Amino acid sequence: MAQEFDVLVIGGGPAGYVAAIRAAQLGLKTACCESNAYADPKGQPRLGGTCLNVGCIPSKALLHSSELYNHANHAFIMHGIKVENVSIDVPSMIRRKDNIVTQLVTGIKGLFKKYKVTFLPGHGSFTAEVDGMWKMTVGEEEVIAKHVIVATGSRARHLPGIPVDGKLIVDNEGALQIDAVPKRLGVIGAGVIGLEMGSVWKRLGSDVTILEALPDFLGAADQAVAKEAWKIFTNKQGMNVHLGVQIKEVTTSADGVTVRYENDEGDQQVQFDKLVVAVGRVPNTDGINAAAVGLSIDERGRIVVDEHCSTNLHNVWAVGDVVRGPMLAHKGMEEGVMVAECIVGQAGHVNYDAIPWVIYTHPEIAWVGKTEQELKAAGIPYKPGQVPFLANGRALGQGDTTGFVKVLAHAETDQILGVHVLGTNASELIAEAVLAIEFGASSEDIARTSHAHPTLSEVMHEAALAVEKRSLHF
Ligand code: FAD
Ligand code: NAD
Repeated sequence: MAQEFDVLVIGGGPAGYVAAIRAAQLGLKTACCESNAYADPKGQPRLGGTCLNVGCIPSKALLHSSELYNHANHAFIMHGIKVENVSIDVPSMIRRKDNIVTQLVTGIKGLFKKYKVTFLPGHGSFTAEVDGMWKMTVGEEEVIAKHVIVATGSRARHLPGIPVDGKLIVDNEGALQIDAVPKRLGVIGAGVIGLEMGSVWKRLGSDVTILEALPDFLGAADQAVAKEAWKIFTNKQGMNVHLGVQIKEVTTSADGVTVRYENDEGDQQVQFDKLVVAVGRVPNTDGINAAAVGLSIDERGRIVVDEHCSTNLHNVWAVGDVVRGPMLAHKGMEEGVMVAECIVGQAGHVNYDAIPWVIYTHPEIAWVGKTEQELKAAGIPYKPGQVPFLANGRALGQGDTTGFVKVLAHAETDQILGVHVLGTNASELIAEAVLAIEFGASSEDIARTSHAHPTLSEVMHEAALAVEKRSLHF
C-alpha cells in the first residue's frame, strides 16, 4: 500500500528541509526524500543538501581555520603576542570541518523527528497525476502526495575537456577535501567559490592563481567594493587573478596540471599541483521525470515558477537553486517557508529585493539591494553615504580597519535602496541593512537609531548620517 502525504518534498537541502519543517508546523502530513549519501560512513542518504554537506558550512569552517592560522602568522605580532613555529595540520582541520557537518546533519534529523516530518531515504521522481493527486516514486516505493515541492538543488558545472577526477582536478566538493597544502593551486572562475576557496589555500601557504573569463572583477558587486577588493586580494594578499581569460587546454601528468589559456597578452601556460573548477552551478532537473508529467523547465534547466514558486502543474511547487534567482541557501529557505504557507492558504511572500549577498573572504564583502551602477543605469536619483572603518575605535582595537560601508538612498524619498559593506564582519553588519530594506526604512531611520559604542556597527550609522553629509566621526 502506497504511503500518502499532504506534502512530499523532493530534496533535503536548505530549501527542502525548511519547506518540510514549516509544512509540518502548519499541520500538514509531510515527507521529505533525499538520495545523496554525501560522506555518510554507512552510505545512508543524508539531509542538509549542498549547503550543509559540501557548501556553505564546510567552506566557512575552513575559512575560519585558515584565518586563525593567518592571524597567528601575521596579526598576533601587532598585539605583542609572539608565536614561533606555527604549523598547520591539514587533516585535523578537515576532520574538524567534517565533525561540524555531521553535527548539523544530525540536527536536521532531530528537527524532522520533533516536527513529525517523515524522512524517506531515496531518489524521488514523478510517475503520474491521478485524480488530482501526485503518484510519485521514492526509491523502490510508491508515494501519493497532494502537493509536491521540488527542491532538488544544483550541482557544480563542469567544463568540456576538463575532467574533474577528484584528485588533481576538483570541483567544490573536492576543494573541501584537499588533505595537504598544494604548492601551486589553480582556480578556474573568480566567483564566490573561487575567491573563498582561493583564500583558504592562500592563507595556508599555496601560491594561488585564479583564471576568470570575464573582463571585470566581481561584476555583480558595487564597483567601488569590487575595485577595493581587487587591490586587497591581489596587491596586499598576493593572489594572482587573471581576467578576460579563455581556457584552451587542460592536461594532467605526473607533474600536476597544465593549463593553457589566452588573454589580451597572448597565449599563456601555467602549471599547478591542483586545479579547482568553480564556474557556477547547474540546476538538478534531470532524473525527476519532469517531461512525463509536463513540468515546465526553462532554457537554463531551471523549473519555471511564478512569484510564489508555483509551477505550471497543479499543486506542484519548486524552491531553491532549482528555480530562478540567486543560488543562496537563505533565499531557498525563505521560498520553502513561503510555499508551505501558501499551501495552507496563508499569505506566503518572499521579498527578493531584500536578499543579502555575502562573500566570506577577508575582508568580507556583503550587500543588499541595488549597486550604484544599477541605480545609474536605471536612472534612479540617489544620494550616497560612504564611511571607512579607518577611524572606528572597535576596528582599531581589533587591528583591522580595512574597507568601508556605503549607503545608497533615494534622492527624493530618502528610502534606502542599497547598502554595501567591505570589511571585517560584513556578513553580520549587513543584517541591519537587510532589515532596513525589508521595513522600507530611510537613511534617516538608521541615522536616528542608537548604535552601541564601540562597535563596528557605528560605521553603518555614520554611513547613514553621511547620506545627508552629517557624519559625526568622519
Ligand atoms: P541543495 O542544497 O543542492 O539540496 C538539494 C538536495 O536535493 C541535494 O541534497 C540532492 O542530493 C537532493 N536531490 C536532488 N534530486 C533528488 C531526487 N530526485 N530525489 C531525492 N533527492 C534529490 N549559499 C549561501 O547562502 N551562503 C554560503 O555561504 C554558501 N556557500 C556555498 C559554498 C559552496 C562551496 C557551494 C557549492 C555553495 C554555497 N552556497 C552558499 C550555495 C548553497 O549551498 C545553495 O544555494 C543551497 O544549498 C541551495 O539549497 P537547495 O535546497 O535549493 O539545494
Ligand atoms: P559564480 O557564478 O559565483 O562564479 C563563477 C565564475 O566563473 C564567474 O565569474 C564566471 O564568469 C566564471 N567562469 C565561467 N566559465 C568560465 C570559464 N570557462 N573560464 C573561466 N571562468 C569562467 O559560481 P561559483 O563560484 O561556482 O559558485 C556557485 C554558486 O554557489 C554561486 O553563484 C553562489 O550562488 C553560490 N555560493 C555562494 C556562496 C556565498 O553565499 N558566500 C559561496 C559559494 C557559492
